[in-house]
Amino acid sequence: MLFNINNVLALIIYFGYNSLRVMTELRRYIVEYLVCIKQVPQVSRMKIDENNNLIREGVKTIVNPADLNALTEAIKLREKTGGRITVLTMGPPSADEALKECIAMGADRGFIVSSRDFKGSDTLATSYTLTMAAKKIGDFDIIFTGTQTIDGDTGQVGPELAENLNLNQIGYVDKVDFEDNKIIARRESKYGKQMVEAKLPILISILRDANEVIKASDENIEKAESMSFEILSPEDINADSEKIGIKGSPTVVAEVFPPEEKKTGVMISGDNTEDKVNQLVEILKEKTTLGW
Ligand SMILES: Cc1cc2nc3c(=O)[nH]c(=O)nc-3n(C[C@H](O)[C@H](O)[C@H](O)COP(=O)(O)OP(=O)(O)OC[C@H]3O[C@@H](n4cnc5c(N)ncnc54)[C@H](O)[C@@H]3O)c2cc1C
Repeated sequence: MLFNINNVLALIIYFGYNSLRVMTELRRYIVEYLVCIKQVPQVSRMKIDENNNLIREGVKTIVNPADLNALTEAIKLREKTGGRITVLTMGPPSADEALKECIAMGADRGFIVSSRDFKGSDTLATSYTLTMAAKKIGDFDIIFTGTQTIDGDTGQVGPELAENLNLNQIGYVDKVDFEDNKIIARRESKYGKQMVEAKLPILISILRDANEVIKASDENIEKAESMSFEILSPEDINADSEKIGIKGSPTVVAEVFPPEEKKTGVMISGDNTEDKVNQLVEILKEKTTLGW
């Protein structure tokens, strides 16, 4: 008889196994992107506390500009490869505003790593924390970071993250493509532009102004408004308490000072050339040791 119990069980096992195999195969072809973004203060000059840390309270924040260029590059690449873009930030819970901005641009999901225990992290502790979070939330093929932030400005987090995750890395990149299962990137070096190829998995850090940042679409803005983001604690990401926050930060900031302001030029305006030249001569007499 065709429908005896053994035949039905055999069919269930056969189809069950095959759909599992197909799903596993498909999973392998979904390119998983991770874009690390940092919320930074939107001011040209920051105040510093007695421990040489930036005072961030009460200051308006934005997503670090290069990180938006990095996300734009990820979105452009996803058009070619398909896949999913996850955005990750370590910061206060209010960093969900930054993640919403990324979802509105076209990212698929986001996570915040946040706890008082992360306070005081230097770049070593920051990259360790991001490493543990990345390991926890996915198995990423392509990780994007900005090259540098506009506040800390060290440019260390991307390379440290790549080292921790044992990934290929290309830095100072302004253009990325994907062909024959390889990343092809254009990067800036002190000798000019270089074209570089590398295999996945990879970390790519993108220069500020590398591209025109993608604008948010109405559909994605609506999606972002209704989205909430998981907040990950040190326990959630299995972080070693000795490697996070102040305990995990060997950096000592000896002194912090604003860069020396450049002297501004003087504009000479006058009715005619003779008038302008006379003004210039007067300035030269006053400011220089010319022998008049
Ligand atoms: C002793 C010390 C104490 C500090 N204490 C604090 C503190 O209490 N609170 C605080 O906010 N900062 C603190 N900082 C600053 C903090 O260490 C840096 O902001 C952080 O390590 C990132 O360094 P950076 O800004 O130079 O990043 P860069 O290396 O210039 O960043 C490169 C890229 O890495 C990614 N990235 C960097 N930071 C993050 C992040 N947080 N989340 C996701 N992606 C990121 C971005 O893609 C970015 O474009 C402290 C620094 C020191 C030295």
